[in-house]
Amino acid sequence: MDPILLLALVGAIVYFGSCMVHPFKICKACQRSRESHSTMFKGAFGMCRVCNGRGHHLRFGARLLGRKL
Ligand SMILES: [Zn+2]
Repeated sequence: MDPILLLALVGAIVYFGSCMVHPFKICKACQRSRESHSTMFKGAFGMCRVCNGRGHHLRFGARLLGRKL
């Protein structure tokens, strides 16, 4: 078997295994605080619009595995 193909296969297994255990990733916009803070009005905040107030995103591999948010 081609060693590069084998390496890609092992990498894919490790990646999907990781997606099974850890299907989410931190929302970079709110860092899991789930809030979006106003830059103009101090103290004003709302739900993070990037992650819809969840604080996390579903990983690409987890979506392929059929995981839902
Ligand atoms: Zn967010």
